[in-house]
Amino acid sequence: MQELIREWPGLGIVSRFDEPTGTWVFIALHDNRLGRPTGGTRLRVYTAPEDGLLDAMRLAEGMTFKWAGLELPMGGGKAVLAAPGPLEGEARSGLLRRYGSLIEGLAGAFATGEDLGTTTADMEVIGEETRYVHLFPDEDGTATDPGPFTARGVFRGIEAALEAVGEPGLESRSVLVQGIGDVGWPLAGLLADAGARILVADVDGERLAAACDRFGAESVPPEAVYETACDVFAPCAIGEVLDPETIPRLRCRIVAGSANSQLAEPGDAQRLHERGILYAPDYIVNGGGALAFGLLASGETDRERLYERMDLVGERLRAIFEEARGNSESPAVTAERQVRRTLAEGLRAAG
Ligand code: NAD
Repeated sequence: MQELIREWPGLGIVSRFDEPTGTWVFIALHDNRLGRPTGGTRLRVYTAPEDGLLDAMRLAEGMTFKWAGLELPMGGGKAVLAAPGPLEGEARSGLLRRYGSLIEGLAGAFATGEDLGTTTADMEVIGEETRYVHLFPDEDGTATDPGPFTARGVFRGIEAALEAVGEPGLESRSVLVQGIGDVGWPLAGLLADAGARILVADVDGERLAAACDRFGAESVPPEAVYETACDVFAPCAIGEVLDPETIPRLRCRIVAGSANSQLAEPGDAQRLHERGILYAPDYIVNGGGALAFGLLASGETDRERLYERMDLVGERLRAIFEEARGNSESPAVTAERQVRRTLAEGLRAAG
């Protein structure tokens, strides 16, 4: 852990060992140049606590890029509760309350919300101890589902990508959605409404059948996804699907989907570029959920307006694709340069 912390370029790590549950708490504060480090709280069992620390560091850095990529006034942070085993009942709520007190003690240096392994109910427990937790209930009192917001952003991103390759419009375009879950499902709905030809792949046979039924989609076996011809490949399931082995097999013009960390290694962006495949940088095209969260945190209450604001994802991508084309480079390279510039110079609107 000493080595990890020594080499990390972030602001710092707040850590605590929760004696009653044997849980390591890591709050990774990566960057606060644009605003308060803000990111979800992940509760997971790791083989070793240092794996949890590393996860927190990587995810916090990812949040810096996500907020800056969408030009939102928030900084990169993430928390990991590395538990020794599944935690329920009093043990779980005790941990969450003590964790909430820790956040409150940071007096605004970090704010959090749900992530893998935590629920709205958990956030409510944390919220008993701190005001720095974001809870955005829908009209029916349940937590706001980020999936449809993310899907709308991906949809706008696909439109921007089609324009960038000189084939605007979705009518009759084929889009292969890998993973028909929280994001993939509403995305398929938007694509169907726009007249696209939809291909879907999922390891869950029941979901797959339901999607084919609902959207008139064609099903693709999960193992045949990479060599299936389509205009747009939309990875919406797992990460690291683009690697030196899968990229040469792709038969699409565009890759634009919600999955996090789609590139297995940085060189994969160049591999896609050399194959003439336009890649929508994942942390921009999948930023709709984060964008909705950021806008809710800044006081937006009208759900319809919020949904429309997801169009910003398409606008950001248009700017990235244009600069990438001018420089004959991968949009991944352009996006990273733009984000670093935003971080160095601050947000334009905020001066
Ligand atoms: P989800 O768990 O609801 O759905 C994922 C779907 O993919 C499931 O139906 C699952 O059966 C399927 N799947 C898993 N492995 C597969 C494989 N190898 N091949 C085909 N299908 C497979 O997840 P989600 O919330 O829809 O998120 C999808 C991706 O988008 C994840 O990588 C997530 O990190 C990312 N993401 C989600 C959001 C959001 O708002 N939910 C925001 C940003 C990024």
